Amino acid sequence: MDNVITRLAAVRAEIASAEEENDRPAGSVTLVAVSKTFDAAAIRPAIDAGQRVFGENRVQEAQAKWPALKSEFADIELRLIGPLQSNKARDAVALFDVIETVDRDKIAAELAKEIARQERRPRLYVQVNTGSEPQKAGLDPREAVAFVHRCRDTHGLAIEGLMCIPPVEDNPGPHFALLDKLAGEAGLDRLSMGMSADFRLAIAFGATSVRVGSAIFGTR
Ligand SMILES: *Cc1c(COP(=O)(O)O)cnc(C)c1O
Repeated sequence: MDNVITRLAAVRAEIASAEEENDRPAGSVTLVAVSKTFDAAAIRPAIDAGQRVFGENRVQEAQAKWPALKSEFADIELRLIGPLQSNKARDAVALFDVIETVDRDKIAAELAKEIARQERRPRLYVQVNTGSEPQKAGLDPREAVAFVHRCRDTHGLAIEGLMCIPPVEDNPGPHFALLDKLAGEAGLDRLSMGMSADFRLAIAFGATSVRVGSAIFGTR
């Protein structure tokens, strides 16, 4: 428990120093604490230490632990950072405040339907498969800008930013640069990129939110 508090403080300090080093305003980078695989008891110390933005990669896992915590702490912001199946769109819209993994028309259409039906409007990011990896979710970089426009024009969805997960074996810098370039082309200024190993670098490339799991909660 103490470890979570200590590590969270260290990550926050690193974010603050990266903001300063890159002439970014203090507090301009949002820390998304990725709590996947950890239960409510492990998460609670982070909440008690003031952390309010959390990321989960599975809808079902999040449903098991977050509704109770969210009703206790009304200002918690929960982000879906894992792949979304269209049959989970209803549950995702009901639970998450931000969905970072919009990556195809079928999902966009389902989300639009649920947003209208539930009158809940999670903020949305488009995931880009910057490494064009066959097994990975996200749009091919060449299709990302057109998809952002289609989300708005065809599906009536406002997109807040772009998200990427660089290939593990690559230097992440070029992937962060590509995401930043695509966001510029799409007229977006929010970038979700950077994880435990590379969040400082992501901030140098313009990340507005970083998704940090193991550096806070420990190894999974
Ligand atoms: C698990 C996960 C993270 C956090 O990874 P760490 O290396 O533990 O910081 C970030 N983003 C996504 C999409 C994840 O699934």
